[in-house]
Amino acid sequence: MTAKRIGVFTSGGDASGMNGALRAVVRTALDRGLDVFGIYEGYRGLIEGGEMIRPLTWDSVGGIIQRGGTIIGSARSQEFRTREGRLKAAANMLTYEIDSLVVIGGDGSLTGADLFRSEWAGLLADAVAQGLVSEAVAARHPKLTVVGLVGSIDNDAAGTDMTIGCDTALHRVTEAIDAISSTASSHQRTFVVEVMGRHCGYLPLMGAIATGADWVLIPEAPPDTDDWGEKMLETLRAGRNAGRRDSIVVIAEGATDRHGKPIETEDVKTILEGHLGEAVRVTVLGHVQRGGAPTAFDRNLGTLMGHAAIETLLSGEADVASQVVGIRGNRIVRVPLTECVAQTREINRLLEAREFDRALALRGTAFNDAWRTFNTLLKALPRPPQAGQRRLRLGVLTAGAPAPGMNTAVRAAVRLTIDQGHIVYGIRGGFRGFADDDLHDMDWMSVNGWAPMGGSELGTSRDVPAGPDLYAIARAIEQHALDGLLVIGGWEAYQSVHRLWEERRNFPAFNLSMVCLPATIDNNLPGTEISVGADTALNNIVDVVDKIKQSAVAERRCYVVEVMGRRCGYLALMSGLATGSERVYIHEEGVTLATLQQDLRLLIDGFQRGKRLGLMVRNENANDVYDTRFMCALFEEEGGGLFDVRQSILGHLQQGGDPSPFDRIQATKLARLSVQHLVTDALTESGSASFIGVVQGKVQFSAFEDFTRLVDLENRRPRQQWWLELRRINDALARPAAKG
Ligand code: ATP
Repeated sequence: MTAKRIGVFTSGGDASGMNGALRAVVRTALDRGLDVFGIYEGYRGLIEGGEMIRPLTWDSVGGIIQRGGTIIGSARSQEFRTREGRLKAAANMLTYEIDSLVVIGGDGSLTGADLFRSEWAGLLADAVAQGLVSEAVAARHPKLTVVGLVGSIDNDAAGTDMTIGCDTALHRVTEAIDAISSTASSHQRTFVVEVMGRHCGYLPLMGAIATGADWVLIPEAPPDTDDWGEKMLETLRAGRNAGRRDSIVVIAEGATDRHGKPIETEDVKTILEGHLGEAVRVTVLGHVQRGGAPTAFDRNLGTLMGHAAIETLLSGEADVASQVVGIRGNRIVRVPLTECVAQTREINRLLEAREFDRALALRGTAFNDAWRTFNTLLKALPRPPQAGQRRLRLGVLTAGAPAPGMNTAVRAAVRLTIDQGHIVYGIRGGFRGFADDDLHDMDWMSVNGWAPMGGSELGTSRDVPAGPDLYAIARAIEQHALDGLLVIGGWEAYQSVHRLWEERRNFPAFNLSMVCLPATIDNNLPGTEISVGADTALNNIVDVVDKIKQSAVAERRCYVVEVMGRRCGYLALMSGLATGSERVYIHEEGVTLATLQQDLRLLIDGFQRGKRLGLMVRNENANDVYDTRFMCALFEEEGGGLFDVRQSILGHLQQGGDPSPFDRIQATKLARLSVQHLVTDALTESGSASFIGVVQGKVQFSAFEDFTRLVDLENRRPRQQWWLELRRINDALARPAAKG
């Protein structure tokens, strides 16, 4: 019996990360004993048939995960919209006996596929009647199975929190606005930046939050008054009066006023120029937003979705109704395709009907949260406290190793605290500085421009307070009459707050309200699935590994890349997945001589089959005895001269650089909620000590009472690590299958 055959294609606008999805679809399918055909140029290829439908092998999708666009091409096809076109497509598919499709595209492409599926029986009957397909072949394939993955830079699909390609596009938007900001502030200028998004404001809204822009116009939330221009001017003027040197207005290409009348970029420019008395420049970002290498997130999203697409096909669930694979609350999910498309269309319909509130609500929690965050920050102005209000005094510090996004969090925390009439002290140099009484009153402009800055402007230290430092910190708290403390950082930050919490009986000063905000590239903290900084670090790693891979094209070489993370394998596993590495070594699993020997055999096999590059990613503390040098020596010595081995220890570059858009957005959101929590807690004098985090997409606060129960103290990581289950996917995609 021949194996089941599936076809895979990319359709509609291209999106970065589609190649990762394609690779995962092909390799998972081969691993499960299926035959896979690539359909080139989307529906057009399906209609043309012939050379446009070709088998894909394990190696044919090697080395593509880092490439933008789609290697099998994408096109729009008018002909597929006709029944005649679809009849040809069905006949072509049956030439190869393909009766299952994985479609990677936007909602148009998914709708087309579902229509194709619903017509399948009729199309086959016609194909047989016209002699295009034999009765026997038609009888073997009575139904078509469809699984869709949403590839779209707009993030406009219901049923998934993120679409493949939108994180990469957000990187492009953020880089562009960062660059514009620096020139704008040099010349005291105002810029209007137009960002893609005909119906969906995801890119403009998130881009505005990530860059600290001053105003944003998105389709789902048009200004609520007709004199919105006045309001915008007022906000920009207030920013300038507070000392800002530049103003940035971000506008979605599909922005309208509340009557549904498009707001053009030029309209905004005219309003601004007429009233601000300074040069206003317009930048339309355009297709730059589509291009470039996919981010770590998009590579992994594509990979996880591609893998799940095949599992969905094999589960039989798609036999009943076409399915879309999505991600919700950090977990891969399946949603019936018709539901997903119907809801996406419903949002577009509501926008056209000017039912904006309902459209916005349907965009989901993360979008609505972001909208609230942006508006709160926008309103955050250095205004005087209200008469008679209780003015709280909050301290903010960063502790532990620097993590990209710390400054973003401090900026948001400082401004939101001041905006509520409270006083905020920046504590320099972490807990060391706290003990040295290095506290400074922060004002609104003291954090100006911090949103996109890497490192920590406040400075950090790894000190966990003990002995006399505890006295000194208690004294500093009393002297400055602090009511609350926001600590942004990693393991040492959490340990320090835990120490203060434990010492409360000895030091009554420590009974103030305390919140820890997770910020470490290691992502090894309890109470959260992801910490601020880890996404930037992953992108740093992925960028370097891409370069390493390019440098090795000429020789047969194996790289052992060592990444940070202490004893937490998150960075190693996720970067291994994103770079298509053969093997990932993490402390959680340990390293044994037996596994190393097995891996060596796989390497030798691979190089004997003609492979040119091997890539192993290793956590820095995966095993103390079998360290990176040992592994390299072992592989080199035992490799029989088939390949040479190089080590690459990435080191501190992983901690550096400007924070990624995701880290900035996460930092801003968590800072907003932490300040809210601290203020409420301090006003009621509850004196709680907790750490904020996000678990399955939901923000939660965990009490320090639970800290020791939640962590593996010896290995400095949480007892539960959600990402460990992704390990098997990396293995499945790295090892060559029996087929292909
Ligand atoms: P993007 O989000 O980038 O616009 P998309 O998949 O929505 O992607 P479309 O141009 O809408 O892009 O659709 C891509 C192709 O899918 C079309 O050219 C057409 O071949 C097919 N298609 C779209 N809608 C339908 C439909 N209703 N019936 C049949 N085929 C369709």
